Amino acid sequence: MPSVAGDAARKSARKVTVARVPATKPAVAPKRAAAPRVGVLSLQGDHAKHGETLRAVGAEPVRISLPEHLAGLDAMILPGGESSTMLRLLDATGLRVGVEEFVRTRPVLGTCAGLILLASQADRLPGPTLGAIDITATRNAYGRQVHSFTDPVDMPALGGGVLGVFIRAPRITRVGKGVQVIATHAGEPVGVRQGKAVALTFHPELTDDARVHAWFLRDIAGFKLTGVRA
Ligand code: GLN
Repeated sequence: MPSVAGDAARKSARKVTVARVPATKPAVAPKRAAAPRVGVLSLQGDHAKHGETLRAVGAEPVRISLPEHLAGLDAMILPGGESSTMLRLLDATGLRVGVEEFVRTRPVLGTCAGLILLASQADRLPGPTLGAIDITATRNAYGRQVHSFTDPVDMPALGGGVLGVFIRAPRITRVGKGVQVIATHAGEPVGVRQGKAVALTFHPELTDDARVHAWFLRDIAGFKLTGVRA
């Protein structure tokens, strides 16, 4: 008899031990959950570079190429590339409605072609833009000879200068009332913000400087960025 009771005691002791195993799991989980999931529109253009910069600041990049990829995103990036092609692909993939809805209310960063997509007006496009920021963008506006250049940009939110990489960049030729100019080059606006939508005519993802992404995620989107290295 005592040995049967002893067996039962050992069995229940074993059960208790097993029950403790899952209880230790949540202690490691929150660190990962804290990284914001940032969708990068990946239909065309330099989306991979944004992904690398997002990882460097402790965010989790998520490639968006289908409507189901929009679920559970904390913020979004519209990369550089060819805005006319991206607009066509937004329609072809069925992404337009979901992306439009997201960028009008949630944190979004658009760079170069991404700025053109976010603008309320732009020229020579196959369809309407997403209209998240009340600006007019004039495409390929730096002339035929000089399509690309790098030059310092003044961005007070970062405490001064940042290197602007301009590649067949647009110009912001009208700034609407509710829009704040956040970056200038040669006295012209090259960065704007309206609510949680930020757009730049240059490419911060093409430098080693991750401060723009870190600033966007912390100050505009309000995330903590536990793994930040910028
Ligand atoms: N010229 C491109 C356009 O009009 C933008 C270039 C870029 O994103 N680097 O869409």
